[in-house]
Amino acid sequence: MISVEQAQHEVLSRIQPLEMETVKLSEALFQTLARRVTCDMDYPPFDRSVMDGFAVRASDVACAPVTLRIVAQIPAGRIVDRALQAGEAMQINTGAAIPRGADTVVRVEITEPVEGGRSVRITDVVPGGKFITKRGAYARCNDVALRVGTLITPSEIAVAATAGAAKVVVYRRPRVAVLATGDELVDIDAVPTGAQIRNSNQHTLCGLIRNAHANAIALPAVGDHRDHLRNAIQQGLDYDVLCLSGGVSMGAFDFVPEVLSQCGVSFHVRKMAVKPGRPTIFGTTDRGTLVFALPGNPVSALVGFELLVRPALSALVGRGRIPRPVKMKLNGRLEATTNRRSYFPVSVRVDEDGSLVATPLCWGGSGDPVGIAGADGLATRAADSPASEDGDMIDVLMFGWRS
Ligand code: AMP
Ligand code: MG
Repeated sequence: MISVEQAQHEVLSRIQPLEMETVKLSEALFQTLARRVTCDMDYPPFDRSVMDGFAVRASDVACAPVTLRIVAQIPAGRIVDRALQAGEAMQINTGAAIPRGADTVVRVEITEPVEGGRSVRITDVVPGGKFITKRGAYARCNDVALRVGTLITPSEIAVAATAGAAKVVVYRRPRVAVLATGDELVDIDAVPTGAQIRNSNQHTLCGLIRNAHANAIALPAVGDHRDHLRNAIQQGLDYDVLCLSGGVSMGAFDFVPEVLSQCGVSFHVRKMAVKPGRPTIFGTTDRGTLVFALPGNPVSALVGFELLVRPALSALVGRGRIPRPVKMKLNGRLEATTNRRSYFPVSVRVDEDGSLVATPLCWGGSGDPVGIAGADGLATRAADSPASEDGDMIDVLMFGWRS
C-alpha cells in the first residue's frame, strides 16, 4: 500500500502533455494554453479619458471657479484633429482619446454649462493629470499577457481578446474512455431485478471527466467475464486515458487486474492507503495510455478520481498540480481514523463572519451514493488521527464544480 502522495507522484511523473492544437478563442473556454499570448500593441493604445467630462489644461483649472470655452466634442472612437488651446475645454466621453494640448479631465459632476452651453464653468480645483489613463498603462506591446499552462477561464478570454489573439494554441482535450464493469449492473433507464443495481458510476465518472475539461466517452458496461472484459479493455486502450470502475478487489470475480496485465498494462499503483478507495489501480501501456481502475463503490470511485484522475487530466494539458485542501472549521464530529488517510463527504458554507464551515453529511459509507447529495468536498485526515470535534480546524479537498 502506498500513500496518496506517492501514488500522485507515480501518476504525474509519467505524464507528458498532449499535442497542441489551434482553436478559435471563442471555442477555447477551459482549455489550457500551449503557447503564450503576447500583446500585439500597447493597452490602452492611446491616452484616454476615465470619465465623462471635459478635457482641459491643468494650468487652466488650478484655480476655481473658472469658465472655459467648449471648442469640440469627443465621443469614444474619434480623434479630434485640432489641439486644445489655453482657455478652452473639449467635452469628452469615457474611453475617448485625449486631444493634443490637454493633460487633465474634469468630471462632469463638478461642471455646469454656461452661455447656453457654449462654455463650461468648473466649480472645483482639479489636480493636473487627473482621470487620464496613459497609453500602455496596463500593457506594453510584446508584453506576455498569458503564460503557457494557463487555464482559459472567462478572465483569460478578456485578456486574449484584448491582445488580439483571435486564435490560441492550446493542448487538445484528453479523450477518456469510461468502462464500468460488474455482472450486477443495468442501465439507468432499466428497473433492476433480483440482485441487480443501476450503473451509476458510468454517469458519475463521465460528469467528473467533463468537469475536468476532458472529453468523456462511455463504453458499454461489461460483466465480470474475462473475454468480454478483454475486448472492452482493448477498445478502451485506444484512448488517452481508460477509466474503469469495479472488479479491482480481492473477490473471486474481480478479473480487472489480471485482464489489464494480459492487455499489456504495467501497474505503478495497486493499492493506496486511503479510506475509502484502497484498491485503486494506476497503470500505463507502452503506447502511453493511462489506465485507472477504480473501486466499484460509488464514493470510492469518486475519491479515486479526485486523488489521481483529476490531477492526471490536468497534467495531460500541462498543468500537473495536486489540488491542495482548504482549512475550515468543523461543524460536527468526525471519528478517529484508522491506519489509512480518510476522506469524508462534507457540505461547505460561508459563515456570517466570512469563514468556511464544513458539515459532515449523513453518509452511510463507501457504498452509499445517496448520502453524498450536497457534498462540496471531502474532509481529509491523516492516518491514525484522533476524532475531530466540533470547532476543530480540518482540511477539506474541495470539489471544483460548486461556486
Ligand atoms: P466492486 O468494486 O466490483 O467489488 O464493487 C463494489 C461495490 O460497488 C458493489 O456493491 C457493486 O455492486 C458496486 N458497484 C460496482 N460497479 C458499480 C457501478 N458502475 N455503479 C454503481 N455501483 C457499482
Ligand atoms: Mg464487482
